[in-house]
Amino acid sequence: MSQQPQIGYDDTPLIPGWPYRVHDSKRPQPRVVTPGTASTQDAPGRVPSDAVVLFDGRNLSSWESMDGSPAKWKVDSGYMEVVPKTGNIRTRDPFGDCQLHVEWAEPAVVVGNSQGRGNSGVFLLGQYEIQVLDCYQNPTYADGTTGALYGQFPPLVNACRKPAEWQTYDIIWEGPRFDGDKLLRPAFVTVIQNGLVLHHHRELQGPTKHRQATQYTPHPAQGPLVLQDHGDLVRFRNIWYRPRTDYDQA
Ligand code: MG
Repeated sequence: MSQQPQIGYDDTPLIPGWPYRVHDSKRPQPRVVTPGTASTQDAPGRVPSDAVVLFDGRNLSSWESMDGSPAKWKVDSGYMEVVPKTGNIRTRDPFGDCQLHVEWAEPAVVVGNSQGRGNSGVFLLGQYEIQVLDCYQNPTYADGTTGALYGQFPPLVNACRKPAEWQTYDIIWEGPRFDGDKLLRPAFVTVIQNGLVLHHHRELQGPTKHRQATQYTPHPAQGPLVLQDHGDLVRFRNIWYRPRTDYDQA
């Protein structure tokens, strides 16, 4: 029998606050995940091996209208596109804390200005909006800029690509927790657009609203992801998430 090589120590100091020693040989190994590949303008990348795919460019089987009827947005050539006045769509299945990847493209034909140009949105748990808007050479109020936590915090930078170019959001979501009516923990969100940090572990003050300051009202830790029909022909592709797990969970 071959001897396993020694890969840690059992004579080192305990790490304060943890049941493990420095370089502890008994500390659990991280889960192995096969990474995906980056998207290009021509094609979406491959998803990580543990991703839950919400939209792979083929159909809206993971989505529905807000009244539970079939989603009425258009699917064409690897993307979905808002069909104005058909309403927001949501995932059939709710989910909670996660790493979320969304790609979108603004309409090639530029119409409107400020909030009227390429408006959509990515709503975590259906009520916390990361703004989707065409802010390429299109000023609007700062807390409604592309990537804003709508009505609460502007993004750190304007990272917009030109209309019609595919853009990415990578979002780390930690939702609020409640004990009855009491807020135990607010929501925190990290948002990266096209590789640039827009928000780093930003605390949300409550659900995002138009022209309203907000506060939390209790809700479950899981909810649907919602995409907004704001009347503009915004496209989406390659939408997936990885449920948050602690490193030593199987
Ligand atoms: Mg919006």
